Amino acid sequence: MPDGKPAGVRCIQLTADDRCSLFGDPRRPAVCRSLAPSDAMCGTGRQAALAWLDALEAATRPMPANHAGTAPPAS
Ligand code: SF4
Repeated sequence: MPDGKPAGVRCIQLTADDRCSLFGDPRRPAVCRSLAPSDAMCGTGRQAALAWLDALEAATRPMPANHAGTAPPAS
């Protein structure tokens, strides 16, 4: 995605069966290439993996300027 993938937005490179259409392609973003899957990340299936991604997105969500240096709000 030219301007990056916003959190919570489905990547345009995902196929209908949730596979990366750029897997093995040098155009695949570096952040995707560097992400090593793990049992904890994948869990027992799609719902567990999506919950993991939601938690990562919440933990890395930029804070508003007036909250810099404080814990992120609960989601
Ligand atoms: S690995 Fe990256 S490029 Fe491929 S579908 Fe997932 S977010 Fe999109």
